[in-house]
Amino acid sequence: MLIIGSHVSFGAKEQLAGSVREAVSYGSNTFMFYTGAPQNTKRCKLSYDLTLEARNLLYDNNIELNNLVIHAPYIINLANNENKESYEFAISFLKEEIERASMLGVEIMVLHPGSYVRFDVETGIKNVINALNEIITKNQTVKICLETMAGKGTEICFKLEHLKRIIDGVNYKDKVKVCLDTCHLNDAGYDINRFDDYLDEFDKIIGIDKIACVHVNDSKNPIGSKKDRHENIGFGTIGFDALLKVIYNERLKNIPKILETPYVGNYDGDKNRIYPPYRFEIEMIRKKRFNPNLKDDIRNYYK
Ligand code: FE
Ligand code: FE
Ligand code: ZN
Repeated sequence: MLIIGSHVSFGAKEQLAGSVREAVSYGSNTFMFYTGAPQNTKRCKLSYDLTLEARNLLYDNNIELNNLVIHAPYIINLANNENKESYEFAISFLKEEIERASMLGVEIMVLHPGSYVRFDVETGIKNVINALNEIITKNQTVKICLETMAGKGTEICFKLEHLKRIIDGVNYKDKVKVCLDTCHLNDAGYDINRFDDYLDEFDKIIGIDKIACVHVNDSKNPIGSKKDRHENIGFGTIGFDALLKVIYNERLKNIPKILETPYVGNYDGDKNRIYPPYRFEIEMIRKKRFNPNLKDDIRNYYK
């Protein structure tokens, strides 16, 4: 069975229960969320009652808890230790985030490996390894999934070899997994039209069993552009057919697929005038037929 969902919100008021409701409204059977705002590290206290309510909602909607994904905030940068204070803060924040994930029962945590800023790739990789060895404990159930990056600015892990070296350097390797992002792979220079070749290479270098999550996004930019701007499914440079081959790939059958495509509408500062595309994208993916009027359909549905 296809395991598909999208990024959803997680608010202080309804917490995980609200996230489940949003995912269900899109026809999803999994989802990904930040435990607060993606761009900061302010986090609310988790409510036991809301977590229990969420468990019941998951059960009622046939969503498996072990397919859910948490995304660590993207300001956390383990690759740069120039400022010791923020490096130490990132480490302690991630320890707490793992704690929060365990309380919610979520075992997949996606993490951007980070940017080396004024160092170099080598140093960036070393910094990530050191940090992960401080963060990861022997008995944790949460797996840290390093995301494949586009190579924008000084990001590391736009190459398979970077991921391989980080995993090699980590003590508890079984706690480290990988999250593929199709937009990032395209922008890093990997051809999604030849995704099976990529999986072969991944298997040779890292081992395919390390893939724990796939972010399915189209890209606004050509292959190798190192940009990282997501586009709606079928509307970008990767295209609908190539993305379908990723989504329905036999070798990734049991891996959750998460959409992180942009909201549709004319953003003029008013968040009420942009609409989530996920319900429509998921429907299109299930039907395996591209809908060129998708964006109009979304606007008409929500307005
Ligand atoms: Fe990400
Ligand atoms: Fe992603
Ligand atoms: Zn991205």
